[in-house]
Amino acid sequence: MSKYRRHRYCRHSYRRPQVWTIVAAVLIAVALYVVENYGGNGFVPSWDQIYQWVGLEPSQSETTAPLPEGETEVVFLDVGQGDAVLILQNGAACLIDAGPKDARQNLVQDLRSYGVSQLDLLVMTHPHADHVGGMQAVLQNFDVQTLLTPDLSETDVTGQTQRTLQTAQECGVPVETAYTGQQYTIGTGTLTVLLPGVDADTAGSDDAINDMSLCLRFEAGNFTFLDTGDAERNEEAALAEQYPFRLRSTVFKAGHHGSSTSNTQTLLWQVQPQLVVASCGLNNDYGHPHREVIQEMQDEGIDFYRTDLYGTVTVTAQADGSFTVQTAKQPDEELAPAA
Ligand SMILES: [Zn+2]
Repeated sequence: MSKYRRHRYCRHSYRRPQVWTIVAAVLIAVALYVVENYGGNGFVPSWDQIYQWVGLEPSQSETTAPLPEGETEVVFLDVGQGDAVLILQNGAACLIDAGPKDARQNLVQDLRSYGVSQLDLLVMTHPHADHVGGMQAVLQNFDVQTLLTPDLSETDVTGQTQRTLQTAQECGVPVETAYTGQQYTIGTGTLTVLLPGVDADTAGSDDAINDMSLCLRFEAGNFTFLDTGDAERNEEAALAEQYPFRLRSTVFKAGHHGSSTSNTQTLLWQVQPQLVVASCGLNNDYGHPHREVIQEMQDEGIDFYRTDLYGTVTVTAQADGSFTVQTAKQPDEELAPAA
């Protein structure tokens, strides 16, 4: 073997392009321009026809909008008697309500187990303890981009709600007041505020606070999810009136934990959900979900799940609107509602 290393050098050679090369390049450029702009007209073939001639699959027609990438997960987290709904879409995360205070540690763990470190949006549907109790812990443990609340200016803000707003300020999280038509991008989906609550006659009462609930609709491709918080029939009627025949949603979170004071037939007929999930605690004091509501779902042929019996309910949806449901546990047959 030679003790000298051979060194290879790149040889730069420059040859003057021949005339026919330039002519070919110009012809190809003209052909590409003609196919791109006039393809499919007269004798000019379209790209799809050319692909077929050379044995390739035709590209998606330009008239069909591309489907949003990825799937959506809507997770009804089991927080006992309260609400905490996580939406995951294309790497983004949104949490609607944060359950009661006593479930906050489990909530933080559950969010981490779903891979959440940042929340693009945290929503307080209304200032009741079973929706805001875990919010302080969420603000302290996750990088929250925005906290969305109903208009609290006329409300006596105390307890958990006050502490939540204080913590948001300490953590530098911007707090936004919801308004009709407000939209947030979550992954390739969009969350829209359909209604930022309604004024009830019974100002200051629990019912009036329930009717402050933000009504939210998430949309990703053909999949849609409606969350009306604890909206009572008063707000449900306002929602149905404002959006006639435009509320249709694949999945609906049962209003007010499945209370018979919500989930009116008027609303359900407008929403036409394929699946309804009630978020509620086992043997809760309110008897949620109410028997009439369960019966209503059966009569309408709607799949109905409840977190008190099934634990956390995870809906995995595709952009075409199809979805599957996974539950943390299988309820005892005696407890489970009749199929
Ligand atoms: Zn509630």
